[in-house]
Amino acid sequence: MKVILAQPRGFCAGVVRAIEIVERALEKYGPPIYVRHEIVHNKYVVERLKAKGVKFVEDLADVPANAHTVFSAHGVPKDVEAAAQDRGLRVLDATCPLVTKVHNHGRRYVAQGRTLILIGHDGHPEVEGTRGQIAGPVVLVQTERDVDTLTIPSDAPVAYVTQTTLSVDDTKGIIAALQRRFSDIIGPETKDICYATQNRQAAVRELCKVADVILVVGAENSSNSNRLREIGEEASKPSYLIADGNELKPEWFTDVDVVGLTAGASAPEVLVKHVIESLRRFGPVDVETLDGRVEAVEFRMPAELADPLTGSRKIRATAPQP
Ligand code: SF4
Repeated sequence: MKVILAQPRGFCAGVVRAIEIVERALEKYGPPIYVRHEIVHNKYVVERLKAKGVKFVEDLADVPANAHTVFSAHGVPKDVEAAAQDRGLRVLDATCPLVTKVHNHGRRYVAQGRTLILIGHDGHPEVEGTRGQIAGPVVLVQTERDVDTLTIPSDAPVAYVTQTTLSVDDTKGIIAALQRRFSDIIGPETKDICYATQNRQAAVRELCKVADVILVVGAENSSNSNRLREIGEEASKPSYLIADGNELKPEWFTDVDVVGLTAGASAPEVLVKHVIESLRRFGPVDVETLDGRVEAVEFRMPAELADPLTGSRKIRATAPQP
C-alpha cells in the first residue's frame, strides 16, 4: 500500500501560537492554568495539556479569582472579556490573529452604518465569539438558501465577514448570492481569508487526484477537519475522519492501492505518524509526500509571554508539541 501525505497538513500558525501560549504560561506561572473551551479542537492536545496541569472550563465562573486564564484560538465574545475583568482573572488571549482580523473588519463595517452578515456555522465558538465582539445585530447566514430568507431591504447598506475555517471556495456561492440580493454590499478582500484553511483544502483536492481513499486526522468537533473529509467525498473518494490510527477499519482498504492522508489544522503530526504506523498492520506501507505549498506564516506571542532572556516574541523553533 502506498500512503501519500497532503502538503500542507496539520497545525496552522494560529494553533501553534495558541498551544505555545499555554505552554509558556505553564512555565512562567506554574500550574494550574485555566483555559476557556478547548484551546484547539483536538482531544489529544487537550489531554496532554491536562496532564501538565491545565484545567479546561466552559464557564469562567469555574475559574478561581486571580487565576491565569487563556482564551482559546477561536476567540470570545465581549461579555466573556468583561466577566473575566470583573472577576480579576489574569487573561492571556490566544485568539488567532486572523480571527481578530475578522472582528476588526466587522466592527469597521458596523461603524460605517452597514448591517453585518456573518457567513458561518451556528453554534461554533468562533461564530459565537465574532457575534459577541460586534456591537449591534449580526445576521448569520449558513447556506445560499438562507440568503433568500433574509428580511433586510435589498438596497440597505450591508457587509459580510466569514468564519475563518470556511475557505474562499466554501463561501463563494453564498457571497455570490448575497451580491445578487443586495445592491450595496462590501466584504473583505479574498486575501484576508485564512491561508491555512485554503491551503489544506487545496492540498486535499490534489490528494483526491491520486488516492483511492482519503483519511483526515482530526476531531469530530473540528470544523476545518470535517470540511476536508467533505471535500474528499465531493471528489467521490471514500473519506474518513479519524482521531488517530486506532479508528482504522480493515474493510476501508480492500482493493485500495493508494491511501491519501491529511490532517486538520488542529491535529498534531504525531497523530499522522500514528495512523501510518497503524496502517502497517494491514501490510507493507510506502510513504511519500505530495508537492504542495510550504507555509512560512508565524504569529507573534503576547508581550507578557516574550522570551525572558531575549525579549523575543517569536514562537520558539523548538516549541514543544504536546
Ligand atoms: S485555521 Fe486559520 S484562523 Fe483558524 S487558528 Fe488556524 S490560522 Fe487561525
